[in-house]
Amino acid sequence: MYSEFCIKKQNDEKFVEKGTVFQQDGESDKEFNDLKWCCLGKAPSLENFEPECSGRKDIKADVVLIVDGSGSIHPEDFSIMRTFLEALVRSFDVSRDTVQFSLVQFSENVQIEVALNSSHNINGLLHTLQSFPQIGGGTWTGNALSFVRQRVLVKSMGARANVPRVMVLITDGESQDEVKAPALELQCLGVEVFVVGVSGAMYTELVAIVSPPADTHVFIMNNFRDLQQILPELTESICLRIQYKQKMIKHNL
Ligand SMILES: [Mg+2]
Repeated sequence: MYSEFCIKKQNDEKFVEKGTVFQQDGESDKEFNDLKWCCLGKAPSLENFEPECSGRKDIKADVVLIVDGSGSIHPEDFSIMRTFLEALVRSFDVSRDTVQFSLVQFSENVQIEVALNSSHNINGLLHTLQSFPQIGGGTWTGNALSFVRQRVLVKSMGARANVPRVMVLITDGESQDEVKAPALELQCLGVEVFVVGVSGAMYTELVAIVSPPADTHVFIMNNFRDLQQILPELTESICLRIQYKQKMIKHNL
């Protein structure tokens, strides 16, 4: 079986290239640890999908917003980021049966600000988005990605089976630990990974994190003030991927 986007796993931990054609040597529905290869499938054609997600009761997803709270981000910029996150959440219908959000903040530590199963209280969710304090410190992005896989996108925190899973990372980049392997582990578990890189974030680091193709999953801005400009394009891209994943799940593909 051949696929355009496959990831080869070497030994126990190391990964090599993605985006090349590899022969699959494993079953895609196995636990990730049993895989030698992880195939993400071809980048889908999204021409027939309706992009508007706002107010759509048929759009279901568990979405993790993972926010860089490290000291390299100016407090004023962090405040702008909070406003951006609030606008992003308002673009979806939030409920137990539609879209659930989790808000996670990281530096060298990681903390859950809102769990998926606490996000149905929309007023509480918006209040947290407007006010959660920046933790400051280092930028251990890889550690944070592993945390999302192990502690956030899990049943006990409200993650649902057979519902598309999406992660949106917002960072100014320059991770102090390795990001590629933890990002690929998320992707191999079916998580659609997007990144918003602001103010000096390195494109190559961001491309290593996102699901393919990079041109619909990496969003780069020169400064935080411009964040609002990408909101329509970002929400549309997330919405399209959710619809595609729902279709795949429905048809058991
Ligand atoms: Mg930093």
